[in-house]
Amino acid sequence: MHIGFVPTMGALHAGHLSLLKAAKAENDLVICSIFVNPTQFNNLEDLKNYPRNEASDLALLKQDAHCDLVFIPTLEEMYPQDKTSVLDIDLGILEEVMEGKFRPKHFKGVATVVHRFFEIIQAKRAYFGKKDAQQLAVIKNMVKQLELDIEIIGCETLREPNGLAMSSRNLLLTEEEKNKATIIAQTLFQMKEKSAQYSVEELKKWGASALKKEIKLDLEYLEIADANTFQMIDDFNTCDAAIVCVAAKIGKVRLIDNIILFA
Ligand code: AMP
Repeated sequence: MHIGFVPTMGALHAGHLSLLKAAKAENDLVICSIFVNPTQFNNLEDLKNYPRNEASDLALLKQDAHCDLVFIPTLEEMYPQDKTSVLDIDLGILEEVMEGKFRPKHFKGVATVVHRFFEIIQAKRAYFGKKDAQQLAVIKNMVKQLELDIEIIGCETLREPNGLAMSSRNLLLTEEEKNKATIIAQTLFQMKEKSAQYSVEELKKWGASALKKEIKLDLEYLEIADANTFQMIDDFNTCDAAIVCVAAKIGKVRLIDNIILFA
């Protein structure tokens, strides 16, 4: 019997459900986990404020035909020995750029908790969203390094009709902020359209200035990288696939998004 596994931090939305649907299509049994993992938060305030909606998550999963079993572990179950110890692996450049740079220790925490889940749940396949593209690369890297017997599947980003990438953190935005946040996706879409005519530097400049027009937006980074290695690029001809990644705060809420320019 093949198990498909979808790890989440809860506050579920249609993006999460799309992962469950993909898992159900390829496996006999689908397990969804809900666990807000403290070791991947580099900011206590962020951990405290992370949206938690267990009752409505369970109601949503009950209605959803694609989830067979929900696993909501305790901190002790996930970290039976030391609640702060992290997996000892070298994630290389993934830990040094973009999310790795701006959220120190984040990816070690992600790799640790996902590795622990893979120990507990002997899944054939695990499903992750491309919205967290760098995280997906971290998981693939970890699986390869540790030679784990599991297939990692990346699923497309689900968006609101106005383009905003679905995210649990959107729950923390006011209606006004949610409208302002659409500039992130709109800028990414336009950058993709312009990418054939612009150099990497010109495109980055254009994107950053488009985002800065929204005064409620505080840009953390806007980078163009090799979509396979996450190495920054300064020439489109030097890679087979390119990705734009962005992190920005709208008010107090930190959002990330990305778009593949070509692959
Ligand atoms: P999270 O609960 O935010 O940790 O997300 C759990 C999984 O859902 C991760 O693999 C995310 O990449 C994925 N995910 C989050 N948002 C989306 C989205 N808008 N579309 C598709 N997958 C998503």
